[in-house]
Amino acid sequence: MNNENVIDKIQQYLIQLQKQEGDLIYLNESLAQDEKQSAHSPGIDSPNLSETAKPKGQLSNEPEQSLMTQNAVEADWKDSQNIEELHSKIHNCQSCPLGASRTKFVFGTGNPNADILIIGEAPGKDEDLQGKPFVGRAGQLLTKILEAIGLSREEVFIANILKCRPPANRKPEPAEVELCEPYLMKQIELIKPAFILTLGLTALDTLLKGKHKMGEMRGQVLDYCGTTMLVTYHPAALLRNPNWKKAAWEDVQKLRRMYDEYLEEKG
Ligand code: SF4
Repeated sequence: MNNENVIDKIQQYLIQLQKQEGDLIYLNESLAQDEKQSAHSPGIDSPNLSETAKPKGQLSNEPEQSLMTQNAVEADWKDSQNIEELHSKIHNCQSCPLGASRTKFVFGTGNPNADILIIGEAPGKDEDLQGKPFVGRAGQLLTKILEAIGLSREEVFIANILKCRPPANRKPEPAEVELCEPYLMKQIELIKPAFILTLGLTALDTLLKGKHKMGEMRGQVLDYCGTTMLVTYHPAALLRNPNWKKAAWEDVQKLRRMYDEYLEEKG
């Protein structure tokens, strides 16, 4: 074999080698691509992972429509037959970003057949830690107010518009309220209270849809979908503005009078 033939052979060998490496690189790339695709293809039991990729702040319209809800909230929560069942089906809710930042889900406590449903705004620090509504300073004031009109916390049901604490106790965002409100609606449907007492403007504005002024609304007997509704100041606001306590006292006394009349009629 002369030198030219040797060089020819070496060149052919190198071309062949280059081609094989190219094929190998292509094969590796396409395998990697296939693996990626299969990881993102929803199987029969797989959740829709494209939803998982949504930025955390992106909210869906209905609690049961987001991936997190599919994972964390049972799809048939709206069919719950009682308060305990509803709680068990929604307590892992992650539909809005507050689900990730909460310590505990605050469903609400009290008599599941209460005649009086009390609705506040959202859990605060103590509520978030204990998983119960109105247990901090404002909650202690609420307990005293209830006791002053002859009611115990166990007789009524106490809940909030939001079930999870907004960071630094900020006001609930409209999107959070929109996502969480259906749970409260279901609570109302199951408890069937004769009276609703809203504490503060967030609860009032959420239930009656709109912006209201406490000074104009308190003292009025309102109607919420056939249920008698009264409104008063949030106990946290009373702690900040003790001057409002007199008005709040009148409001809860009115509730007591109306409740007594209701009980009399009921026999
Ligand atoms: S605040 Fe309501 S909607 Fe948001 S995660 Fe908590 S329970 Fe779900």
